[in-house]
Amino acid sequence: MMHWSLKRQSSWVQLAGHQGNFQVSKGGEVLKLYSELEAKCLDSLMRDPLRPFVPQYYGLVTRGEHCYIRLEDLLNGLRRPVIMDCKMGVRTFQEEELVKARTKPNLRSDMYQKMVKVDPSAPTAEEHEQKGVTKWRYLQWRDTTSSTSTLGFRIEGIMMEDGSVQRDFRKIHSLTQVTEALLYFTRNIRVHVCSQNAYHSRLVDLKDALRSSEFFRKHEVIGSSLLFVHDHSKASVWMIDFGKTMPLPDSKEVQHGVPWVEGNREDGYLIGLTSILTALSQAISL
Ligand code: ATP
Ligand code: MG
Ligand code: MG
Repeated sequence: MMHWSLKRQSSWVQLAGHQGNFQVSKGGEVLKLYSELEAKCLDSLMRDPLRPFVPQYYGLVTRGEHCYIRLEDLLNGLRRPVIMDCKMGVRTFQEEELVKARTKPNLRSDMYQKMVKVDPSAPTAEEHEQKGVTKWRYLQWRDTTSSTSTLGFRIEGIMMEDGSVQRDFRKIHSLTQVTEALLYFTRNIRVHVCSQNAYHSRLVDLKDALRSSEFFRKHEVIGSSLLFVHDHSKASVWMIDFGKTMPLPDSKEVQHGVPWVEGNREDGYLIGLTSILTALSQAISL
């Protein structure tokens, strides 16, 4: 479920994600509600070539009734940061969710309502009758109506330096539209060619690190984002959100750059990264 919030507590902003999942902590940390899967991923990532591309993970802490993951605040030290969250991959549901939807179809009326609100003709006659859709069906619909299925990523949202949030990127399909969105996102640093190139070279370095990462080879990376952040002087990109990143069974590996067919566990992460790099190169050359 995607909520939009604009909680400006000091410089920290939660651009996407579930309300109430985050707390801002002192000393340049953010606290994210604990999930075993995510904590395990972060633990492995701290011992992987991807470490420089992931917020530092400082372990767990309990606040009140809840346990939290302690993460480096990627906005720490930035002045009036500009942020973009890109959800990576050609699908945002795990294969496990697909199997569950078949064996135990749990109908969600909230997701049906959201679907109807955007497109009343999207649900099938049966779904209209039931006034419900499975979570898998809803996620898959969002994937095919956005650039997720075709470009291997979608822009979840952009926050500009004045705090305004744009989130209407759902219908973006073409690379040209992505390039336009990137130009908008980087408009105030366009004069600083260095900053734009900083994004590009950081992504090229990320691609190299992904190639040599054992973690990446051995995980189905679903629903994870690249968080782009810049201010007037710095620009960087980070991998965040490993709440749906699953370790593969023993000896199984994925390539991340080939199409998904059920059973191959491929997520298309590299398809998305290539699309972003292409759009960014286009934006730089304009
Ligand atoms: P989703 O609905 O995508 O599963 P989630 O609840 O798992 O969301 P995240 O995607 O991890 O949450 O983060 C949501 C938002 O919080 C991001 O878009 C970003 O704006 C902010 N955020 C997350 N982690 C950090 C961090 N380490 N530093 C700064 N901001 C962060
Ligand atoms: Mg997320
Ligand atoms: Mg998540």
